[in-house]
Amino acid sequence: MEIGSKSFEKIKNGAGNIGKVLLNIIYPQTCPVCQKIIPIGEGNICRDCLGKLKPIKNPRCLKCGKPLEEARIEYCRDCRRKKHSYDGGRCVFMYNKELRESIYRFKYNNKREYAQFYVDAMVLQCGDWIRRKQIDGILPVPLHEKRLLKRGFNQAQVLAEGLGKRLGVPVYSKYMVRQRNTVAQKQLNEKERQKNLKKAFKIVQNDVKLKRILLVDDIYTTGSTVDAVARELKQHGVSEVYFICLGTSGIN
Ligand SMILES: [Zn+2]
Ligand SMILES: [Zn+2]
Repeated sequence: MEIGSKSFEKIKNGAGNIGKVLLNIIYPQTCPVCQKIIPIGEGNICRDCLGKLKPIKNPRCLKCGKPLEEARIEYCRDCRRKKHSYDGGRCVFMYNKELRESIYRFKYNNKREYAQFYVDAMVLQCGDWIRRKQIDGILPVPLHEKRLLKRGFNQAQVLAEGLGKRLGVPVYSKYMVRQRNTVAQKQLNEKERQKNLKKAFKIVQNDVKLKRILLVDDIYTTGSTVDAVARELKQHGVSEVYFICLGTSGIN
């Protein structure tokens, strides 16, 4: 199901129980886009802002899930050009100004409450797709411990845990570590990104064997991070690796 007025009602009605209402009185929920306080019972995003985020719809790339301009093309330019290590993925929204600013506050201003809306949107947009993949474990893309200390939390873990709860799939947040504190990917070109991520991820939990994994992250750009994680997982017997991200840039 795609986000529209009907699904908005679902998000709205999801905020039903008394505990949540009480919590909302003590800590009023703010809109993840405009930051205004949302009236109790109105859900996780204000009415004015729902239309400001752009859900990704078909046609989309069969591999990375980025939107395509024409339905007759199966893969985006990126995925026609290079082979990914992961098997497939979906992103929920276009990475526009509103989403970029929202994710920034989520990550750096400790707006963890936004995860409620983000996870709702992930389930609405991609829940059926995830269920079809018969995932046996959800993994957040790990953050290096230095960055974790600085930020206080891993945004991908917050999303993964919310998603796992909603879908009834176990989340393994300690399955992998990021063992190299890599330079922020956004400053690098594609070749540098791959080099930067070499041996960056390592499996540290060996008592669980997973076959089909869903990786969770906030933004998908070239896929080099997801690929690096997928490579490590597949070298250790995982057969299928998928991903879900909140946002992705541009039509390819
Ligand atoms: Zn708003
Ligand atoms: Zn693609």
